[in-house]
Amino acid sequence: LDPEEFRRQGHKIVNFLADYYQNIEQYPVCSQVNPGYLQKLVPNSAPNHPEPLEKILEDVKRDMIPGITHWQSPNFFAYFPSSGSTAGFLGEMLSVGFNVVGFNWISSPAATELESIVMDWFGKMLNLPHCYLFSGGGGGVLQGTTCEAMLCTIVTVRDQMLRKIGRENFCKLVVYGSDQTHFSLKKAAHIAGIDPENFRVIPTTKANEYTMCPKSLHLAVLNDIKEGNIPLFLCATLGTTSTTSVDPLRPLCEIAKTFGIWVHVDAAYAGSACICPEFQHFLDGVENANSFSLNAHKWFFSTLDCCCLWVKDPSALTKALSTNPECLRNKATELNQVIDYKDWQIALSRRFRALKLWLVLRSYGVTNLRNLIRSHVNMAKHFEGLIAMDTRFEIFVPRKFAMVCFRISPLVLCRVSTKFDHEEEVNKFNAKLVESINSSGKIYLTHGVVGGTYIIRFAIGASLTHYWHVDIAWKVIQDHANALLYQGSV
Ligand code: PLP
Repeated sequence: LDPEEFRRQGHKIVNFLADYYQNIEQYPVCSQVNPGYLQKLVPNSAPNHPEPLEKILEDVKRDMIPGITHWQSPNFFAYFPSSGSTAGFLGEMLSVGFNVVGFNWISSPAATELESIVMDWFGKMLNLPHCYLFSGGGGGVLQGTTCEAMLCTIVTVRDQMLRKIGRENFCKLVVYGSDQTHFSLKKAAHIAGIDPENFRVIPTTKANEYTMCPKSLHLAVLNDIKEGNIPLFLCATLGTTSTTSVDPLRPLCEIAKTFGIWVHVDAAYAGSACICPEFQHFLDGVENANSFSLNAHKWFFSTLDCCCLWVKDPSALTKALSTNPECLRNKATELNQVIDYKDWQIALSRRFRALKLWLVLRSYGVTNLRNLIRSHVNMAKHFEGLIAMDTRFEIFVPRKFAMVCFRISPLVLCRVSTKFDHEEEVNKFNAKLVESINSSGKIYLTHGVVGGTYIIRFAIGASLTHYWHVDIAWKVIQDHANALLYQGSV
């Protein structure tokens, strides 16, 4: 590594990316390429001789950018946001530039210590109960994804339980979620070895806004006990993927506590909003859960990947996940003076993720971070208002955060054709609308299917999005709806 060449090339990359952001709106938001497009553009094998960065960057522009879906575009309203920021990108650059592998404290003390510090800072901002902070006997760790966080917590309580009941009873362990819980729970439970037959899906309804009903959970648990099964783990969600619904933590945790079930609160998207006091009531009852996670790479201006996991009892986690190979033995670990984060996660190696979170927290400060979140929420309120003024559309569930769920109203479609008496046809029409909008490349949005109904999700959170982007997006949606309703073959 030649530092002067690194400086020269590094500046080129920063300039390239700055130009990308300056021009980002000229690209179709959702990539319009066909599968296999890249194979036709790049050589069959790696070059034998070095090629200059300038040439490689030309190829990135010509061949890669068309194959990129521009998540940072101000016109990106799909999935949940992956909100980048200058501070997040620069923090990532620092972390990548140092390229340390902080598996234990001695392998890079700053990586470990900064991680513990920012997790307590962030926990305090969220108003998480003291018991989740290092200062209160709990603690936090940065992992890659929510799925990993769920897996680590399931494995923790699985092992705890098996020590009590014996490994021969493994097949009796039961995991609970709702029909709105993210599918990563199922994946995590599967990897943890939970029998797929013992994965309980508690149904939700429109009447309770697609939240988990405590009574239904209670009945499912009682039924399992009657059957000789062992209730183990419950995932409650703060901000479900399809509709951003919030499960009632307090009553769910109370039931779980009665039966000794570990509760993990998945706040992957909406957890970030809890830095604003007006959203902290959604955390009511979290003191009775066991673990809590959110993805700072979704709505907290930190680049992928950055899943923040807090646990009340770190010793339970480390008991399940610790390894102690000879090659990593060192005095600090043996004297029990330090945290070795390799024992809080799946892998041994780990990145210096805390740097980017630290840069985000310091560069913005709490007040600005709250205002950024609020600005997205206010834009979503504005969008909701636009929908409410057009009677052809209906809002599917009340908005809670910065995502609005809507669709073309079945009543309007029924006036166009009697075939829309069938929900299936209404769904198809709304799916056609989404496809038509996305293929224009002007904006990008995605859908969900909830209780059999196809809904269009409009999620605001890209750092470059302003009110005028929301207004233009609404015009795009209306134009495509007009074309399909009045000119297209319905
Ligand atoms: N949980 C919720 C509520 C989500 O919305 C998502 C992704 O959107 C996930 C979990 C999965 O997160 P990850 O990809 O970090 O595992």
